[in-house]
Amino acid sequence: MRRFIAAGTSDVGRVREGNEDAYLVADSVVAVADGMGGHLAGEVASSTALEPLRELDGRIFPDAGEALTALRDAVVAANETVVQMAADEPSYRGMGTTLTAALLEGRRLHVAHVGDSRAYLFRDGTFSQLTDDHTFVQHLIDEGQITREEAAKHPQRSMITRAIGVSEEIDVDAMTLELQPDDVVLLCSDGLTGPVSDQAIAEVLGSDDDLDTSLDRLIEMANEAGGPDNITAVILRFEDSDAEATQGPRPVAIQTRDDRGGDDWANRLGSFGSIGSGGGSFISQQSSDRDDPARFGGLVLRSLAIVVGIALLAGGLYGGGRFLLAQSYFISLEEEQVVIFQGIDADLGPLSLSWVSERSELMIDDVAPYYRPTLEEGFPAADINDARRLVRGIPLREDQGEDAEDAEDELDTDDGATPDEDATGDGTP
Ligand code: MG
Repeated sequence: MRRFIAAGTSDVGRVREGNEDAYLVADSVVAVADGMGGHLAGEVASSTALEPLRELDGRIFPDAGEALTALRDAVVAANETVVQMAADEPSYRGMGTTLTAALLEGRRLHVAHVGDSRAYLFRDGTFSQLTDDHTFVQHLIDEGQITREEAAKHPQRSMITRAIGVSEEIDVDAMTLELQPDDVVLLCSDGLTGPVSDQAIAEVLGSDDDLDTSLDRLIEMANEAGGPDNITAVILRFEDSDAEATQGPRPVAIQTRDDRGGDDWANRLGSFGSIGSGGGSFISQQSSDRDDPARFGGLVLRSLAIVVGIALLAGGLYGGGRFLLAQSYFISLEEEQVVIFQGIDADLGPLSLSWVSERSELMIDDVAPYYRPTLEEGFPAADINDARRLVRGIPLREDQGEDAEDAEDELDTDDGATPDEDATGDGTP
């Protein structure tokens, strides 16, 4: 006989006054949400986002496609609701939430994910992170700028790049997992994964404790490590009494995002729910003011700089707090090159709040002199396509062709061959 069992818990931690996390455990759907926004707004955002998911519980789907569509619709509905509430109620401005949800359909588990809460799979002693963090530090890791170890201590590690409730358009990661007997799936907020190592979490999941004991142990470990943030975990276990029971603690191995490679345990479906190219891994901006991208971009840059600034001043740097680095684009120079940046064109103390999105082929010398100060200053774009369009529109210096000819005067004459090659190839001098 097969059955799925699930349990969840949440703890305020040792630093925060309130708990902005929320979770859902129902028969066929589980979820974790980590809200943000002051004065109860974060709690409202996270609990509101779970409501459409709750409505999925118990529904029967004819196939995987229908289940995945229903999950997508629930996440989109969650986003629309939180966006609307934030627009309607001034005290909810700026609220948002992460959302990591899993829907059971037969022996399949469909996962949808936005933000830096995580889903993990513990299978045959191997603990793997299923979801990618939508964070600034993950972006830096992907770019090869910092290591995973550096990311864990990075001052901007709590800065997320996608969230529910911030924009009418939402980009959602999705995947489908074929479950096997004894699989354990963990959904959790960063209040667990920040202070507690994957190894320690895996050892708890690999014990044969019941779910509530395991959950208590996870909360305890996060609090022993300082409990800097709200801690939430949901464990889902697939039991098959026909299969041979495993006894005692199992040895565990950690599979990181880097080494899981082309592993086929999860059918990673990419993202859904986004509008645009689909390749963009960041949230889009609100659709208003589209007609005046420069003005809109400027507004967004200013308001975000303020929001992020407040978040930093409010102790986020020290308490492991969260801020949303919602997406903005601007065009400026990096060294001599014209570059499209993502993020906010502002520094807060030692922190840079932007990174390179795309490099153009244009160098500052190619640009009309009168336009160079504009580039040095930087100017905003509404989205990546707008940014590309603006780059194409940058006025060029009129004598551009002459420099190109000069450059060709210096010809490469070294063909790399030497007249006395050693034909024996024994390498001795
Ligand atoms: Mg958190």
